[in-house]
Amino acid sequence: MPKKQLIDSRLTATAPIPAAPRRELLKFAAASLMLWVTKVGAGNTAEDPPRTSKSPIPSILAVRVWPAADYTRVTLELDQPITFSSQLIKNPERLVVDIEGIEFNAVLQSLPSKILADDPYIKLIRAGRNRPGVVRLVIDLKADIKPQIFTLLPVANYGYRLVLDLYPAQPVDPLMALLDPSEANPAQLSPLGQAAANTAPDDATKVGANATTEANKETTKEAPATNKAPTNASRVATKNADKNDPPEIARLVTIMLDPGHGGEDPGAVGRGGSYEKHVTLSVARRLKEKIDAVPNMRAVLTRDGDFFIPLNQRVQKARGIRADLFVSVHADAFIKPTARGSSVFVLSEGGASSSAARWLAKKENEADLIGGVNLPTKDPYLARTLLDLSQTATNNDSIRLGQAVLGELGRINTLHKGQVEQAGFAVLKAPDIPSILIETAFISNPEEEKRLNDEAYQDQLAMAILQGLKRYFAKNPPPGKFKLTRLD
Ligand SMILES: [Zn+2]
Repeated sequence: MPKKQLIDSRLTATAPIPAAPRRELLKFAAASLMLWVTKVGAGNTAEDPPRTSKSPIPSILAVRVWPAADYTRVTLELDQPITFSSQLIKNPERLVVDIEGIEFNAVLQSLPSKILADDPYIKLIRAGRNRPGVVRLVIDLKADIKPQIFTLLPVANYGYRLVLDLYPAQPVDPLMALLDPSEANPAQLSPLGQAAANTAPDDATKVGANATTEANKETTKEAPATNKAPTNASRVATKNADKNDPPEIARLVTIMLDPGHGGEDPGAVGRGGSYEKHVTLSVARRLKEKIDAVPNMRAVLTRDGDFFIPLNQRVQKARGIRADLFVSVHADAFIKPTARGSSVFVLSEGGASSSAARWLAKKENEADLIGGVNLPTKDPYLARTLLDLSQTATNNDSIRLGQAVLGELGRINTLHKGQVEQAGFAVLKAPDIPSILIETAFISNPEEEKRLNDEAYQDQLAMAILQGLKRYFAKNPPPGKFKLTRLD
């Protein structure tokens, strides 16, 4: 059965698959799985099921490299499954991966040239024939890494994949990462500097997103009001500062912005060829800039580059920085090009609010399959009956937040649905952080696709979301001393 047909049957979830092709599909899936297990398991002793490809030797169809500070991923895409072995070698640090049963080809030959000079983890890759039928990759490393090497079955437009994820051996503490020295004002770092800052009457904006030792002390005094981490907790707001006035302690709220998809997972693809992952990153970056310019607010991106992050890790990132809100940015797609408008979703642990919402949540949750995770983790947020109460409270806040944002989006775009919808989105499952998922517009609608790529419109979207956030905070101030300067 041709691969293309398989892909189409899988993706058009709403169209019933005719009986015969479905049988074919299952047969194909079972055969692939068997072949895969046989090859990956102990030796290749079992009789091979019939190959789905004409060539008896697996060939490499594509190689991709996704460098990022979080981790660098190297993907080899093949038309058939393969076996591999790997070892990490010290002095100098390098990772050696042997792939069996394939021949060195021109696609693999192009791999070394795909490594950028500024890749955080890879110095260079060498690829060559090690012995007959075995191709060896030698990856010279820039840092101590903890590799995760795994295979993936075909999904969506992808064939078999061998994935090399190079994670730093010492992951960066997300809270420490917020203390970006490039943003820090040295004056803040000493009590003297702090005092100077307090007396600057014109400094109406935040002293800095970075908590200072002084600010931390102040927070401790205010402690019962907030259980936030020091870096997230406070800063000295000098808005009304005067030589005679004591500085006002305001709580800094942190918004986790989550540009949907990324890396191996392009998200929805418009008819004009735009990728959802690029649009979401662009809108989220604009939104971050606007949020950071608001006193008392700051934003952190789950990804600030083109790489894939599993859905549960996005949630963990938000919890890692103790975010006050989680906002996932997406662009919708539907089979009919006429579908249009913005919508906002929140988590539903029970049923979805409509079949369209259920369909969409399923589609968004497939990101992990397409992006490719090593040993999909059991959802740690799924069976949290003990936290039901907090989840309910969070859900109510999520709905309020969603309504505020939807109202603002309604000023700049048609609304796909007039109210906030609910479904089981995996990325919205932080039990203690109000979370929304925004479908900014339909990338599958040619007119909206054009607007989604327009910088001025992206800016309008970001502004509308920001206004929604401000409106929400004005009515639902977070615990702790918090003052939002103005709504404009
Ligand atoms: Zn999406």
